[in-house]
Amino acid sequence: VTTLLSAPLLPAQALPTVKLFTTGGTIQSKGAHRLKLSNYSDGKVQPAELLADVPEIAKLATMEIVEISNKGSPSIGAPEHLALAKQLTAELARPDVAGAVVTHGTSNLEETAYFLQLTVKSDKPVIVVGAMRPYTAISRDGPLNLYNAVRTALAPEARGKGVMVLLNDTIHSARFVTKNHTYHVETFVDRELGPIGYAD
Ligand code: ASP
Repeated sequence: VTTLLSAPLLPAQALPTVKLFTTGGTIQSKGAHRLKLSNYSDGKVQPAELLADVPEIAKLATMEIVEISNKGSPSIGAPEHLALAKQLTAELARPDVAGAVVTHGTSNLEETAYFLQLTVKSDKPVIVVGAMRPYTAISRDGPLNLYNAVRTALAPEARGKGVMVLLNDTIHSARFVTKNHTYHVETFVDRELGPIGYAD
């Protein structure tokens, strides 16, 4: 098990670039009120709003946003998978790009992560991130998941580990991860193998 302790805090002028590819899902969903923790399809969060919500990220990296889609993961398929694989491979080849983060609904997150594990040609970290509670929920998990995803994308220990999935402070290999529960925040598990790290 690799423990990712901290991403380097660099002076503003030396900030690395992290690409943020957004596809939608609960992390970008709004509900009618704070206790609406299921059936929340009352609005969508735009990528810039998502980043503005976690201003701490701007101290870690220069974020470049690419919106692939803004929909639930059951509607994600080959067009989005191919666009992600091609654009991730191209953008990660840039020397100034340290890694990438992909927002995704959790229902089919493991399928997309596994496809990217097989197709993205780079040893830079790719972190697929989601949330179990919508943007509007009390105790929502999206902001910390997103912050930890960027930290992990920047962490030297994360290089060469392939595509990773991060929710609930836990880093999983796309090779082994699976969703285990419909709404618990600790839903992602790796069966016999366990996670590959923690964003402490
Ligand atoms: N329905 C959502 C989706 O997969 C569930 C989630 O994001 O957690 O898009």
